[in-house]
Amino acid sequence: MQTSPQTQSALDLILRARHQVLSGEELSYDDAVALTQVSLIEIPYLAAAANEVRKKFTGDEIESCALSNIKSGNCSEDCKFCAQSAHYKTDSPVYPQISVEEIVEQAKAAEKMGASEFCMVSSGWGATNGKEFEVVLEAVRRISSQTKLFVDCSLGFLTAEQMIRLKEAGLYRNNHNLEASRDYFDKICSTHKHQERMNHVEMVRHYGIHPCSGGILGMGETPEDRVKLAFELKKIGAHCVPINILNPRAGTPLGDIPPLEPMEIIRYIAIYRFILPKSTIKIAGGREVNLRDLQAMAMQAGANGLIIGNYLTTMGRNPSQDIQMLKDLGFKMMDASPVSSSVPMAVSGASCCT
Ligand code: SF4
Repeated sequence: MQTSPQTQSALDLILRARHQVLSGEELSYDDAVALTQVSLIEIPYLAAAANEVRKKFTGDEIESCALSNIKSGNCSEDCKFCAQSAHYKTDSPVYPQISVEEIVEQAKAAEKMGASEFCMVSSGWGATNGKEFEVVLEAVRRISSQTKLFVDCSLGFLTAEQMIRLKEAGLYRNNHNLEASRDYFDKICSTHKHQERMNHVEMVRHYGIHPCSGGILGMGETPEDRVKLAFELKKIGAHCVPINILNPRAGTPLGDIPPLEPMEIIRYIAIYRFILPKSTIKIAGGREVNLRDLQAMAMQAGANGLIIGNYLTTMGRNPSQDIQMLKDLGFKMMDASPVSSSVPMAVSGASCCT
């Protein structure tokens, strides 16, 4: 069968990118942007190459993370994608922070359902108040000592002292998503700056906590914005990169935005793996509704993690279906048994948005 010149040139680009990344070189920005132009029919080749990169740099173990929305809604910030922003009228639940006992109970249930990581997520941008913070701290201590889960939290903006105390309590990761590229960020948030988010992630790393930071695809950004975001995440040393896909929420300014095609999502999972070969690439909120029957293919496009169970304001599918899917694909589930590992340097790894 004859290959068309267009397909041949796409295959050449994919093979060159694959060879570069597998041999330890970095993918250039221009090549990453060129990969955004590969036609849909050629994306399975891109996915297969990214899957090889995943296998070489992160192996066959899959991280599975369960979220707990420990405080919901009424957030002062104007993130235009978020159902928890007090700037918009949505049907998202609003409740104050839950108790230590409730959080620990949820963590134990998450461990039982097969999660390797548990992330406490609180709506809001500013640091949690003193009493709320003490509850989170105690929950981190108890979950660390009573389960084998990796413990993560996403609490908006923390102070240096809070980070030190969380680390001492046993926190493994802190999530703080960049959400969008610097160039696009002002279009999706008017109350804080992209640089503030970057600074916070840098601070997380500085205090010896693994930084978890990702973004949301499908908010009206350009292909170049998506590539820029991946390079920004690389620059700040994101250890774990949650890729959310916008699940438009009625009442928010992005409530009517058309969804991305499943194959487009797979394209960017693969491109993110090329740009961030050693990070955990975690498929997060919006997975089921946007990828539909292509969820298994997304796991073969370079991802090595996923959020299981429910999201912050939307439902996920039954975790047993995800675990079965991963076993059917030949992956191993990561053991929930934290080991101390050093925090990576920048450039060489759930916010309130899932
Ligand atoms: S993403 Fe976070 S900071 Fe922004 S509105 Fe939602 S809860 Fe608030």
